[in-house]
Amino acid sequence: MSEQQAGSGKSEQVDVVVIGLGPGGEYTAQKLAEAGLSVVGVERDLVGGECPFHGCIPSKMMIRAADALAEARRATTLAGAVEVTPDWSLVAERVDRQATSHWDDSSHVTRLEDAGVRVVRGQGRLDGPGRVVVEERDGHTRTFVASRGVVLNTGTAPAVPPVEGLADTPYWTNREVMHLTELPRSLAVLGGGPIGAELAQALARFGVEVTVLEMAPRILGPVEPEASAVITDVFEREGITVLTGVEVRRVSHDHDTFRIETDGPVVEADRLLVAAGRRLHLHGLGLETVGLDPDVRALATDDRQRAGERLWAVGDITGKGQFTHVSMYQGEIVVDDVLGRDGRRADYRALSWVTFTDPEVAAVGMSERQAREAGLTVRVGHADIPESSRGWIHQAGNEGIVKVVADADRGILVGATVVSPAGGEVIGLLATAIHAEVPVSTLRGMHFAYPTFHRTIESALDDLGDLGSE
Ligand SMILES: Cc1cc2nc3c(=O)[nH]c(=O)nc-3n(C[C@H](O)[C@H](O)[C@H](O)COP(=O)(O)OP(=O)(O)OC[C@H]3O[C@@H](n4cnc5c(N)ncnc54)[C@H](O)[C@@H]3O)c2cc1C
Repeated sequence: MSEQQAGSGKSEQVDVVVIGLGPGGEYTAQKLAEAGLSVVGVERDLVGGECPFHGCIPSKMMIRAADALAEARRATTLAGAVEVTPDWSLVAERVDRQATSHWDDSSHVTRLEDAGVRVVRGQGRLDGPGRVVVEERDGHTRTFVASRGVVLNTGTAPAVPPVEGLADTPYWTNREVMHLTELPRSLAVLGGGPIGAELAQALARFGVEVTVLEMAPRILGPVEPEASAVITDVFEREGITVLTGVEVRRVSHDHDTFRIETDGPVVEADRLLVAAGRRLHLHGLGLETVGLDPDVRALATDDRQRAGERLWAVGDITGKGQFTHVSMYQGEIVVDDVLGRDGRRADYRALSWVTFTDPEVAAVGMSERQAREAGLTVRVGHADIPESSRGWIHQAGNEGIVKVVADADRGILVGATVVSPAGGEVIGLLATAIHAEVPVSTLRGMHFAYPTFHRTIESALDDLGDLGSE
């Protein structure tokens, strides 16, 4: 790293600057430093980003605990009376100690520094191609000139809808929930997407009276309607109130109670969780200085994650799916491109993801609707988990479906959805099939072990009927 007079002020010459150290940025910085480049990683908050401290990991620990409660309760119908006394302090302790080390990112920083990355704490912004200005926490400003380029991984924050009164109330987002040490008696959840649905079910299983308010006609919007229907049914049977197609008009808070006025019912709750989507961190990033618009819905990237001259982007800001595995996948592509390797190109045909409700909702590739909108000759196959041999044996907690979407012209699957116990594991087989474009006829000739949940895929494939081209 060298210092030189560049432009108006003193600047430091490096190979690469990564702005934002979420999962993809962290991965990219580490791998490029290990490859021998001089790398600066700029982070204004916790190194590691949303996933380890406020997202995936702590929320999945909550879900794991809530699922254990649900299984214990199911034992009563299968194995004999079980009495459980939910104790949130065990979850709070695990999130605090194991998941987040008291929201301390030292282990992330050490891993990067051991790889040779220089971690700079502060707010980074572009100042023309390959140039980054960092406002450090102590008020210092540093300028870096990155000869290879800059990687953006600035992620998202919770989106807060412009509902009258909401901003003046002490509402929670996913950030506050991860710090919960005591549970409220009741909770309203604004938004029935994956984050809202996962947390709603987890907290309800600990005894919180939960109401989900969703503006769209169904919860878990983009998933197949059949999957939404299963989860809505499970939620209602578990005592969660699901209000769909409701528009929240006004929110107020007094005497420790939230009052949520909608175009339908009025909901009152001790606490309000806003889980209404995510807002991209693109403003204040100097995108204008490299000819990019900060008001876009997602930063456009090519199949090497290039977003401009000596500029790459990874993670939620690219709009390819707000998941940790997408961020890291894109990071791998950037590493190859920066190092000039003829590496892999971004391909989202078989992107899979999981919503960790119980049963889990997992999907890969296109939904039926997306396939029809793409003009494909669509064939759809369904099978119900409770009617499968494994589902029948499983009984309590066996709700679910498998849906496969085929392109009849090519005789291959282009999408699939699994709602099932361990649905996130079952989807792996279908992800392989879609990724490798395995002909449906080949899949039909496979062995599907008996009695597994994944064997239900065979029934869904049968339900596709004759695809003609096979
Ligand atoms: C409750 C919850 C549960 C989730 N569960 C899952 C799950 O089960 N599976 C899954 O795959 N995904 C899950 N996600 C999504 C996942 O957390 C994100 O997709 C993942 O963190 C990847 O995000 P990212 O790489 O875009 O960056 P982020 O993790 O958002 O990190 C971006 C970083 O950039 C920093 N930053 C922003 N601007 C600047 C700047 N100008 N200068 C310096 N630093 C800056 C931020 O402080 C932040 O640390 C969940 C999210 C939430 C909220």
